[in-house]
Parts: sequence; structure tokens; C-alpha cells
Amino acid sequence: MRTIEDLNASGKRVLVRVDLNAPIKDGQVTDDTRLVAALPTVKELIGQGAKVILMSHRGRPKGVGFEEEFSLAPVAKRLSELLGQDVILAEDVTGPSAKELASSLEDGQVLLLENVRFDAREKKNSPDMAAELASLADVYVNDAFGTAHRAHASTAGIADVLPAYAGYLMQKEVDTLTSMLDAPKRPFVAVLGGSKVSDKIKVIDALLDKADVLIIGGAMCFTFLLSEGKPVGKSLVEEDWVDRAHDMIKKAKSKGVKLLLPVDVVVAKEISEDASTSAVSVDDIPSDQMGLDIGPETADIYADAIKKAASVFWNGPMGVFEMAPFAEGTRKVAEAIADNADADTIIGGGDSVAAVNAFGVADKMTFISTGGGASMELVQGEALPGVEALKDQVI
Ligand code: ADP
Ligand code: MG
Repeated sequence: MRTIEDLNASGKRVLVRVDLNAPIKDGQVTDDTRLVAALPTVKELIGQGAKVILMSHRGRPKGVGFEEEFSLAPVAKRLSELLGQDVILAEDVTGPSAKELASSLEDGQVLLLENVRFDAREKKNSPDMAAELASLADVYVNDAFGTAHRAHASTAGIADVLPAYAGYLMQKEVDTLTSMLDAPKRPFVAVLGGSKVSDKIKVIDALLDKADVLIIGGAMCFTFLLSEGKPVGKSLVEEDWVDRAHDMIKKAKSKGVKLLLPVDVVVAKEISEDASTSAVSVDDIPSDQMGLDIGPETADIYADAIKKAASVFWNGPMGVFEMAPFAEGTRKVAEAIADNADADTIIGGGDSVAAVNAFGVADKMTFISTGGGASMELVQGEALPGVEALKDQVI
């Protein structure tokens, strides 16, 4: 991949795909993490004296033109506060407003196009739309790692028609995750949780080829426990995935990977803030209760394995961490990872990142990936269209 460091952007019109898909309430950005993550690249380009043209999607508009609800106006406002300079907002994506504003842009100024998904051609990776976008600029920078797993006009097609470069965030995400997979410091401990085995099975499969220890928690542990013949009560299980879970346990054995499953779990009759809970052995899960967190003994075993790790990858909470009665397992795992200051610690996945933030340990992690789906696909060993487009550059 050519990166922004190979680019002399001075005086050039640089079209930058960023991920500014931030939550908005009452016209205000409520979490500016993604905007902050885009700043290094945007500031570098401004500093070089480029004419910066930003583009992003936000939410799921219908693709029939402007919709107030999905406008990037609140994003432009917050971004201009973060940059300390004006962010000019176009009224359209490649229409008259975008064209006019892009052509009158001065060196060091920033223009933001409206939501690229207002144009239905975006998600179809339309060459026409890519050509229209390209006509606004001289070069293209992709810094939107979070959408790199989608082949869209602004993430893939555009790189066929403009010289393309990776931005800092894109570069950092790809380098960090790739080196974790290619040459992890050992022992390499992977911690996987979350709700669905079906979502994570490819990640588990891929990590069994890389990790020394694989820790399983979250709702998906019950599909594994069921495959071991344990009673799971009313816990969430995916019946169709029991055989695959069993295959994974066998694969771990044959590869010499230590696969850790819970030995005890926190159970309750209902998922609620004031549920009455108890910790039981995985051999004694009552038939009328659900497992909603790993138990204290399991949390200690997991924390101990994490303590001995030289690198840790974590995706997926250990329980329903959003509610206090089921948050302890996830908290203990988050703290164990944070406390292992010598290890490379990498966190991926929307809810896992939310957990790390909620427990106040984000700044102790080596790297927190901004790309939920994209990081999972990369870890699964899948090619990301947005990354491949940067690699295949012939222009
Ligand atoms: P990530 O976004 O980090 O990849 P997932 O989306 O896979 O994680 O899973 C997160 C969700 O899993 C959380 O909302 C959490 O409440 C839920 N969850 C975790 N453990 C359980 C459980 N035992 N039963 C039901 N839901 C669970
Ligand atoms: Mg999630």
C-alpha cells in the first residue's frame, strides 16, 4: 500500500474517505471517537497545504438523495471545532454544490461532501459515481478502515480512477492487526465472547491457527458447553452450531491450543438490572435459568492466563456487561488485559470497545481497533476490498 507519507499533497485536491459515522442526538454528535480518529490524516493534509475534500457515510439512508436525518451537518460542526477551522459542507455528494465548492477550495481549506449513501450508486460500487467523485480531486486517500470490508464507490471503485493512498488510521489498523496475526509475541492469548457463535466461528477457526491459548466466554460459550454435554438451561444457544463448536474443540486439541471454557457461570431467571443471581458450576446450570456471565472462578482462571500472555487479542464481552449483575466477568477480563502492561493488547469489536471504555481502561490498551466488522474480517483472513484497492494501484 502506498501511504500518505509517499504523497506530496501541497496544492493538490485530495479526496479523503473517512469514517465519520458518529451517533447523533438532537443535532449533536454524542460520541466523537471516529472524528478524533480521523484527525491525524486530515491535519497532516491541511499542514501540507492540500485542498482537503472529505467524504463519509452515516447511518442507512434510503439512497434517494438528501434526508435531513442522515445529514452530515452535525458532523461538520463538531469536526470544525476539533480542527479549529471551518469545515465547509456541500449540499450533495457529486452534484452542483460539491462541484462548485470543490473547485473554489483554497489550499489548507476543508470541504465535507454530504453523506455518500444519499447516492444509491455508492453501495453498488458504481464506476459512474467513482468517476464523478474522481472529477472533484487529483488524488484519493482512504482512511476509513471501518468500511474497508465493503466494496463501495467511495472505498473501492474510486481507487481505479485516482492515484490512491492509505491514511494514517488505515495504515495503523492494517499494520497492527496484520503483525498480530503474522508474528504475535508468545504466548498469544485470544479472548472471544459476545452473543453469537455463528458470528464468530470464522474468527475462532482462524485464531486456532495463530493463538497459544483461546478463551471463550459470552453467550456463545453455551453452544460450546452444550457440545460437551453440559446442561445449559435457558441460556442462549445456537443448536445448528453445536457440531461446529465441537469441531473447534477437536481442532484446538489437535493443534495443541489450550482452549478454555467456563467452569462456572452467573445465572438468573431474567435479564434485568435487579435480577437475583447466583454463581453455579457448569455441571449444575438449573433448567429454568440462563447463563449471563462467566462465574468468579472462571474469571480468575481467565485473568491468570491473560497475566501470562505476551500478546492478547480480545473480541466480545464475557457476559451481559451492560447490566451491573452480569458485568463482573467482563470487568475482570478487561482489567486483567489492562494490567498486563508488558503485553501487546489489542481490542476489536464494537461492544468490547464500549466495555473497555465503560470500565475506564481504554488508555491502558496497546491498540483499540475502530473497525468492528472490518477488523473481524481481517482477523478471519479475508481480503478487505478497501485495502485491496489500495494495494492494486496501477495509477
Ligand atoms: P462485539 O461487538 O464486541 O463484537 P458482540 O456484538 O458479539 O460483541 O456481543 C456483544 C453482546 O453480547 C452484548 O450486548 C452482550 O450483552 C451480549 N452477551 C454477552 N454474553 C451474553 C450472554 N451470556 N447471554 C446473552 N447475551 C450476552
Ligand atoms: Mg457488537
